[in-house]
Amino acid sequence: MVDLAGKPSVASGQESFSCHVCRAIVDSFEGLNDNDLEPCLGDVKSIRAAPCPHHAGLLKDELWRLGPVEDCDSGLLGLIRGRRSKTIFLTLDGEEHQDSQDESGEDDGDGGSDDEESSGDDDDSDTYNSTDQLALVHRQDIPDHQGKAKLVDSEWLDVNTVRGWIETCERDHPNCRDSGLWPSEDSIRPNYLIDVIDRRLVLGDHATGDYVALSYIWGQAKTLRTMAGTLGQLLESGAFRNEEFGKQIPKTVKDAMGIVSCLGMRYLWVDALCIVQDDREQLGLELGRMPGIYASASFTIVAANGADASHGLPGFKGTSSPRSLHQVTVKLAGSEMLVVTPPIPRSSGSAAYRKLQIPYHQRAWTFQEYQFASRKLTFQGNTAFWRCSQAEWWEDLHQAPGMDTPEVQESEGILKIRAPVLSFLSHMILEFNQKSLSFPEDAASAFTGLQNVLGSRVFPGGLLYGLPICFLEIALLWCPRSDIHRRVPTKKQESDEAIPKSLPSWSWLGWHGNVAFPDDCEFAAYSGGSFEEREGFVSPVTEWCTVTSPSSGCSDKQALVPGWSVWRKEAQKGDSLAPEGWERQDFEEGQLEPGDKGGLPRYTPQFSFEIESFAAASRQSSLVPRLLHWYPIPVSSGKSGEATVHQSAYISCRTERAFLYGGSRMGALEPPRLQLLDEKGGLAGYLQLHNEGELEQFQTTETPGKRVELVSIAKGYTGRLSGGHKVPEVEGDGSLRFRDCLFVLWVEWNDGVAFRRGSGVVTLEGWNETCGKDFCDLVLG
Ligand SMILES: [Zn+2]
Ligand SMILES: [Zn+2]
Repeated sequence: MVDLAGKPSVASGQESFSCHVCRAIVDSFEGLNDNDLEPCLGDVKSIRAAPCPHHAGLLKDELWRLGPVEDCDSGLLGLIRGRRSKTIFLTLDGEEHQDSQDESGEDDGDGGSDDEESSGDDDDSDTYNSTDQLALVHRQDIPDHQGKAKLVDSEWLDVNTVRGWIETCERDHPNCRDSGLWPSEDSIRPNYLIDVIDRRLVLGDHATGDYVALSYIWGQAKTLRTMAGTLGQLLESGAFRNEEFGKQIPKTVKDAMGIVSCLGMRYLWVDALCIVQDDREQLGLELGRMPGIYASASFTIVAANGADASHGLPGFKGTSSPRSLHQVTVKLAGSEMLVVTPPIPRSSGSAAYRKLQIPYHQRAWTFQEYQFASRKLTFQGNTAFWRCSQAEWWEDLHQAPGMDTPEVQESEGILKIRAPVLSFLSHMILEFNQKSLSFPEDAASAFTGLQNVLGSRVFPGGLLYGLPICFLEIALLWCPRSDIHRRVPTKKQESDEAIPKSLPSWSWLGWHGNVAFPDDCEFAAYSGGSFEEREGFVSPVTEWCTVTSPSSGCSDKQALVPGWSVWRKEAQKGDSLAPEGWERQDFEEGQLEPGDKGGLPRYTPQFSFEIESFAAASRQSSLVPRLLHWYPIPVSSGKSGEATVHQSAYISCRTERAFLYGGSRMGALEPPRLQLLDEKGGLAGYLQLHNEGELEQFQTTETPGKRVELVSIAKGYTGRLSGGHKVPEVEGDGSLRFRDCLFVLWVEWNDGVAFRRGSGVVTLEGWNETCGKDFCDLVLG
């Protein structure tokens, strides 16, 4: 630390500072004193004794995170600059304080002054005492004043600020309404809307003008729902003023109606009211249209607070109840002021933000709503912020011209890039599938909207229960990345017969937890991950179809045509062409990052394929790695409604099966992976369990172990078993070998239906010795 006590004060601006401590604090927001990363402001005693009237404020208790400091009579007051000088922390008795301010380089763009630091507990926070983040309050009277913070009313949000956000976005951001994610020509009109002036439902087609959508958690709150029987009444003028209906409308919905009217708009879309809840057909259709409904709204009110719809949207004067937002301030010399900023990351796209336990973001239903809402007015904590594709504006942050449009990247990934690549879909599913649902059996419904868009705009042929049909066999071999558990229905069946009894076990949607599709090095040169973990998928072993019931036989079969193995074969022929959205080039090893060499397929490829948008980005920036593929998959046409696949919970095929035995645990992977043994106890493959609890049944005295039934899904090779032939690219290290194998599912039968219990791999030799062409007619449920 550098002691500033002896320095003359640096007087810039109109007013000169009589106090060097106040000056040092303000200077640190101007990016001055850059050499002094952690300036020392002096010892507590001299600060207390200073003639400056503001210094006592620096030590007031409500500023400090770890207990009272007002009585503290020794120690050094220090200052830590937050990112880009937008905030600071004051520290007391600061020990050396490494890496707590910029630890991660998380993807928060220019969103600002966030850090997990402010919201969580630091490991080293007991070595010193520190304030929450402090921002300098902006002053209109000084040109180019560095202050970024704004004082706000403790009870009411400034309606003009909100109107300003909407107007500015409308005026300056042509792309915010017409995002690449959902082109405006595809915009759709909901069947029903709430008319907030007439206080009733209206037909969407009869209402002209924009509508606002509400995204919220129903939770356990009693909610007025539109039923076929009440629809007529709700369409009558003033219906929501009527006592019977009025009192059933939960607070969040009521407040949203008020806010829409306050902002000078007329129509609001709320799922519970604008979809007839007991009309099975309409419910199904509208669930599928949900992404479009959110994407086509003028903007979406996101109610991120509270666990259910009774929480309301506090802080909108004339509409909702007051909020309570207490900003702690500290006056400094020269009429400057510090304010504690809310301890939440400023960029809602950042990883730090996602880690916050905000109920709204824990829920599966709201996931797709948030993804497709292009412009969002979010009520969170006691404040509100605006987010669109171009900006993120906060009520308590001053937006100076030129700095009001930070580049904010939405995290839609796969939807925006439109790349039919399983590993991209894995990212989305990883996030979705860990979220919670009041009724676990709703998982497929909560994914329907996303699935329709993925089917029409990304994966050709659509998706069946979350599995892209073009990659069917590979997708069926999805793997748990941590313990997963079966989603067991909890709704009373008679209450809603539209809900299937349970979700299929062969789909990841039937399981709650962390899942991902396999990385296939016949498809792409994946970087990262260990070489031994690599696997390649070469061909399917059979043909699949859907059936409507286990016993329905051939009569209602629908063939599933995967396609991946055909494209794989065609791609490397000299006359192959890159489909739209892809580019092809001659392959040279130099194109691979050194660490990606293990990602070569088993043959030496002649061509590599890249997704156009990705390739362009990586040519422009060295930060975007090249992503080489060994075959392309044509991108779905983009016409919505296309490739809507009938969702059948049963899929069927005729395939080989074998019985092997569960052996000892391999490595310390979670969930556990077991050896698969043949009758003589020889290693034949491995079995991937779904969770730790499954281990118990394999602790048996039988030799060679518990018998499991395996069905064959696809042919390929694995690096996860030792032995076999050497891989040419890693000659010299004999331990790295691939073995030809079959990818299998472990199934158990119940009432003529086989259910997935796990997945695995059996070496081709092991399989051929054991199996002996034992075919079975498989119906997976
Ligand atoms: Zn002072
Ligand atoms: Zn905008």
